[in-house]
Amino acid sequence: MIIVLKPGITKKEETAVLREIRKLGYTPHVMRGVARTVVGAIGDERTHANLESLSTWAQVESVTPIQKRYKLVSREAHPSDSTVTARKVVIGGKKFQVMAGPCSVESEDQLLRTAVAVREAGATILRGGAFKPRTSPYEFQGLGEKGLKLLAKARKETGLPIVTELLSENHADLVAEYADILQIGTRNAQNFQLLIAAAKTGKPVLLKRGMSMRMEEWLLAGEYILANNNPGLLFCERGVRTFENYTRNLLDLSVIPILKSETHLPVVIDPSQGTGKAALVTAMCKGAVAMGADALIIEVHPNPAEAWSDGAQQVTLDGFKKLMQEIRPFIAAAGRE
Ligand code: PEP
Ligand code: MN
Repeated sequence: MIIVLKPGITKKEETAVLREIRKLGYTPHVMRGVARTVVGAIGDERTHANLESLSTWAQVESVTPIQKRYKLVSREAHPSDSTVTARKVVIGGKKFQVMAGPCSVESEDQLLRTAVAVREAGATILRGGAFKPRTSPYEFQGLGEKGLKLLAKARKETGLPIVTELLSENHADLVAEYADILQIGTRNAQNFQLLIAAAKTGKPVLLKRGMSMRMEEWLLAGEYILANNNPGLLFCERGVRTFENYTRNLLDLSVIPILKSETHLPVVIDPSQGTGKAALVTAMCKGAVAMGADALIIEVHPNPAEAWSDGAQQVTLDGFKKLMQEIRPFIAAAGRE
């Protein structure tokens, strides 16, 4: 903690503050400036008494914690990069990973055609929503368990591991039975009971950023996963709300270097929800790769014009093939395979 003393306090008042700091179990280090005296209180804030009570003292101007509120996700706790593995596919390692597939699972034909095509083009993980978080109750809500069964079938045919959304605590065991990675959507990014339930399944968790979440809130949401004994966490940026409505969201690529310095965990970018426009997806992928992301998650549909959700942002099978060709040099330039 950093304790700033009020200007003009007497030596006696200063001594009283230092005595209190020692009493609470910390070692005070005094730094005397021209106008103010600053005290660094050294000790572990997790195991010692809370020094914030000092802010009520008349001699004290401010008390500022120096330790971060998130611990397990922080790079301080784990200096080297960590990786997350889903059925032998390693995310966060040397190899760049691409997750691709439809926004929603609609039918066996739609899913299998997409799965085969994205694998051919180089995708390594299949995405597809079975439980869909829809803004309107009158919109398609997903096929539910039938969708999960189709995803399992597509995995069997293609060998691609599956990432799919967990929407409710009630479905945690069911979804974990089929999925290789559980997606927590933007609307649930701070549904803490759901985060705990997801963590407890033991499956890796892809945590989307809440659409109005600050970095610290996102990191603390991620902390819920690790604090519940699940080390398999992926942070996924999918865009935030701003005044702009040319794009669906503002895809915040600045999170890549921020997450890389603050955490040891892999970073995934979702340019599909991030822009809402298929024509913008490839360019955002190139940017994300160049900036050091570990993986992409991209919506792909055989016929986007007839998609049951998010038609405008899904790329076609051919479009995806072209996208993969275009991002290859960027993957190589970023030192990835
Ligand atoms: C999705 O991936 O289809 C989705 C609903 O994502 P988000 O939670 O980011 O909106
Ligand atoms: Mn979608």
